Amino acid sequence: MPYLTDIYGNASSTHQFGRAARAAIETARKTVAAHLHCSPMELYFTSCGTEADNMIILGAVRDLQVTRIISSAIEHHAVGHSLEACDHDKVKIEMVRLHPNGQVDLDHLRELLGRSDEKTLVSLMHANNEIGSLIDLEEVGNTCREFGALFHSDTVQTIGHYEFDLATLPVDFITGSAHKFHGPKGIGFLYIRRPLQISPLIHGGAQERSKRAGTENIYGIVGLAKALDIACTEMAAHRRHVESLKSYMAEKIREAFPEATFNGCKDRSLYTVLNVSLPLSPNADMLLFLLDIDGIAASAGSACSSGSNQASHVLTALGVDTSRPNLRFSFSKFNTRQEIDYVVERLKVHLGAEVSA
Ligand code: PLP
Repeated sequence: MPYLTDIYGNASSTHQFGRAARAAIETARKTVAAHLHCSPMELYFTSCGTEADNMIILGAVRDLQVTRIISSAIEHHAVGHSLEACDHDKVKIEMVRLHPNGQVDLDHLRELLGRSDEKTLVSLMHANNEIGSLIDLEEVGNTCREFGALFHSDTVQTIGHYEFDLATLPVDFITGSAHKFHGPKGIGFLYIRRPLQISPLIHGGAQERSKRAGTENIYGIVGLAKALDIACTEMAAHRRHVESLKSYMAEKIREAFPEATFNGCKDRSLYTVLNVSLPLSPNADMLLFLLDIDGIAASAGSACSSGSNQASHVLTALGVDTSRPNLRFSFSKFNTRQEIDYVVERLKVHLGAEVSA
């Protein structure tokens, strides 16, 4: 709040109001760097995770002479559509095979990497936002290093939920977004391992050490750092709580709907997301509408694609039957078991009602 009321200077101004704002930004950068174990000089604040992903993908081709990008069909659109936006005369895109549970086929990744020694960027998300499948950053990163490839991981879903030690983790670029760890919306960041350099996507002033022009969103940046600080400090307790909610919900759904199946990987999965294929009802939109009236917020895909009327590109790529209602439930430290009981009760009512209709 003080950064919306009292400390309102423009961080690029040299007067005392500006200097106070500048100090807040640089303190926030140091806080984020301390939690991720990197240098503050390797962090750049952006307007969101999408901008950070765009900057890396487009920048790698433009500035780092990358002529091949290996990625996957289940990346968030922030990566997928950035790949489409690349100059395809300069870079070719190859897709790594996925297992039906969303895990990357690492043998195929090795095969692709070994096929050519051209300058390659591998872009694979740490955790999928719809089905939760997780990659082992260490394993994938070491494979990239072995073949001399750069490695970008969209870590938007996992920052603040898992430990990151960038001093040892073999990644070159990661991205984050504050609203995934209870920070404000509209603020994200980008990590670029030194000495790699990417030129700006947004042109103008010299903000963010000339890497990202535009007057800084001070309250967003301070809010991001504060939220990350809380998330990292309380991570173990939150994780235990959220993991127990997820397994409780899976168990309750299994009891209530024996035909239900779960999408994603059972053993290696983001603990905040549960994606379930429910039986019976052909109409996911109607089900979501009824849940919404009950005060239950769930989704059928990523929030960014909601309303697009298209089946989830993630589930489609994995061959999941998209004629069934596939619902994604997300959990946070603020949820309770009672809320899960309520959701399952309401699902029983709605699905039961559709069966008899
Ligand atoms: N990447 C992943 C995996 C996400 O889940 C999201 C947001 O849902 C993004 C990128 C985009 O982040 P933002 O909404 O901050 O642009």
